[in-house]
Amino acid sequence: MTTDTRPTSGVSRTAVIIAQARATEDARPDRLFADPYAQSFVDAVGWIQVAEAGRLNQGHFVLRTRFFDDWFRASAEAGCRQAVLVAAGLDTRAFRLDWPEGFRLFEIDLPGLMAFKEAVLGVRRAEPSCDRTAVRSDLRGDWPADLLAAGFDPRQPTAWLIEGLMMYLEPADNDRLLERIGMLSAPGSRLAIEHINKEYTELPQLRAVHERLRKVGASWQSTVEDPCAWLGSHGWTATVVPQTELAARNDRPVPELTDPERVGDARMWLVEATRNAPEGS
Ligand code: SAM
Repeated sequence: MTTDTRPTSGVSRTAVIIAQARATEDARPDRLFADPYAQSFVDAVGWIQVAEAGRLNQGHFVLRTRFFDDWFRASAEAGCRQAVLVAAGLDTRAFRLDWPEGFRLFEIDLPGLMAFKEAVLGVRRAEPSCDRTAVRSDLRGDWPADLLAAGFDPRQPTAWLIEGLMMYLEPADNDRLLERIGMLSAPGSRLAIEHINKEYTELPQLRAVHERLRKVGASWQSTVEDPCAWLGSHGWTATVVPQTELAARNDRPVPELTDPERVGDARMWLVEATRNAPEGS
């Protein structure tokens, strides 16, 4: 690459760690999904050594990727005709999933991360299997204006995914994010999120992770104790899907840091939700 846009520091570096997990899964003969671009992102940055807990989380990153892949397929079948990857990172679902004819997919992330992603995908000559638009925007700012300017249609039912972001934002930014998503969500829209609770941040196994994240300027800023009640207050009917269920569904072991038998009440929440009908309808 002529200009160095590699996400080697800050919160965008975490996108590379997730790409590493997907590259590792892609190489398995019994993989739960294929991601033919993940290794290219990793090669462009160089392998990032993760703390032991990061290694223990590999299984969670894989199960969550497969869970949200299946959720997108179900959302398209249910009638969503567009999707937004909120903090898309190095997610390549626009390229690796089969989308219905005419499906529109918007990816929002910080300008530096997006520049890096586009450069690597350009070198690979990657062709999306949907109508893909990259939106360079800060999710704490006026991203709806950028999304609408990019052609997003708020009258269409939308599938929104917030994967691996909320813990890095302040609680007030997350509430504003959900408020704005709600305003842009036509009837029939769906939402899926990942978040963590306070007990999870207090796991002794995560001490080294906190230290590494702090050093690169990507410390966790928020947690949620009852994600269904929280999403309910923002106009969504939500369900938590436990990793134990996903592990059984995919014939994989329950990831160590998401196994209630080993971590008690600590949770990385995976949640799916549907938009409530407007009041009075
Ligand atoms: N969703 C992707 C995935 O699961 O592969 C990426 C997850 S990665 C852990 C976190 C992502 O959030 C990074 O790509 C980072 O650039 C993005 N991010 C963090 N804060 C952001 C902000 N304020 N605005 C836009 N993107 C942000």
